[in-house]
Amino acid sequence: MSAAPAFALPRRARLLPELVARHRGDGFLTPASIEAVAREVGVPAAEAWEAARSFHEFRFDAPGGERACAGIACALHPGFHEPELPAGCLFRCYAPPAFGDEQPFPAEMVRQAGPLLGPADRTWAGLERARRLGPAAVLDEIEEAGLRGRGGAYFPTARKWRAALRHGAPLALVMNAEEGEPGVFKDRALLCLRPGRVVEGLAIAMEALRPAVTIAFINGEADPAAEAFERALADSPIAGQVLLYRGAGGYVLGEETALLNAIEGRRAVPRPRPPLPVDSGLFGMPTVVNNVETLAAVAVILREGPAAFRAFGASDAPGTRILSLSGRVERPGVYEVPLGTPLAEVLDRAGSPAPEGLAVLCGGPSGGLLPGAIADQPVLPGRYHPTGAMLGAGGVVVLEAPGDIRRAALTMAAFNAEQSCGKCTPCREGTPLLLEALGGNPAELTEDLLDAIQLASLCGLGQMATGPVRSALAFWPEVFS
Ligand code: SF4
Repeated sequence: MSAAPAFALPRRARLLPELVARHRGDGFLTPASIEAVAREVGVPAAEAWEAARSFHEFRFDAPGGERACAGIACALHPGFHEPELPAGCLFRCYAPPAFGDEQPFPAEMVRQAGPLLGPADRTWAGLERARRLGPAAVLDEIEEAGLRGRGGAYFPTARKWRAALRHGAPLALVMNAEEGEPGVFKDRALLCLRPGRVVEGLAIAMEALRPAVTIAFINGEADPAAEAFERALADSPIAGQVLLYRGAGGYVLGEETALLNAIEGRRAVPRPRPPLPVDSGLFGMPTVVNNVETLAAVAVILREGPAAFRAFGASDAPGTRILSLSGRVERPGVYEVPLGTPLAEVLDRAGSPAPEGLAVLCGGPSGGLLPGAIADQPVLPGRYHPTGAMLGAGGVVVLEAPGDIRRAALTMAAFNAEQSCGKCTPCREGTPLLLEALGGNPAELTEDLLDAIQLASLCGLGQMATGPVRSALAFWPEVFS
């Protein structure tokens, strides 16, 4: 955790940072080290254990060896071998097979840049303009630009900010850089290559929201991204005003309330909604959680104005979106494209095979598979197909069909079963059943089982875990017979 701002969080908010520090020092956590941290931060040892066990990257036995990626893009590579220490994704899908620690995002993997990934000028022109305009006018500009959140839900950003502000109470602002979805690496690209733009967006959000506390939560393994962000922050007008948190794994942290529980030093599981975080979030404060790419877009809007932002994209979804392309393409990497661009155009630029015999996985473990012949969707929020494929956080993995389909569906099902936080029964019990049936006896994949997981799970992880399976069975049933 970096230097503290004026507002002091309760002591228990130091639980995760202290556990992360112990884990980094020793290579694993022991009962003694967890209990020592519990005493330091004033929480019962049982609660500290419960919280620690909810993070997938903590080890509890011995220091880990070198992990290798078992994600779908790496598994397709001819040099892939089943790893001894498999990772669900190491977020280097552009350079398979991935193993070991994270590396800085390579500039040459920016295959197409726009306002978000384009060159930065090292000034704070957007923030200075925001300060001249004042909070109300900044909110108006974000609204006029039509910015929607880039984490995957596409909720209008200005509406979210206004919803938190209407309480007139001290609020919290959280930058979500957990980025734990296999096949998505665009936040790492932004943080490594354009950290100043992200910091400027965060500073503008602070200007508009005047938060009592601001937290940047960065994936625990993304050291190069965190270091680049910290350097840019230290050199910025908001130096010393942002708390830096590092995670310890967990796809479920994409769910805002699980992220807030992690910061509060609790088990990283989603909370029931309502209340929404904008009404009662971090320690009960109205809380705004924004994704890295959303904040970079805020900086662009305040620098160039809403009209310039709207010059890209669709009328109801303006601006650009960064897609993460991997799998069977000649030029994997990040592609920043105007929303509304045909997906086929991006696939073509990336050197994807012809649509016949091609499939795309869109939206990762929460999305679904599409045959190449119907993959020519505009890059827009929402579902591409009722069985599951969607834009989500912009992950696109290109596959050969039908050859790769079974492996892709099994990999996604295994990831969801492994990442289920266990809080609710339909997901905790249902996702392993789904995996078992898919790998053994697909006849057991009844509509009742799929519906129970999709309709009765508490959060998006369970609700959308059926997408890769439903879509694979719908388009390539022969692969599972
Ligand atoms: S749906 Fe899954 S991940 Fe979400 S709360 Fe339930 S068990 Fe946890």
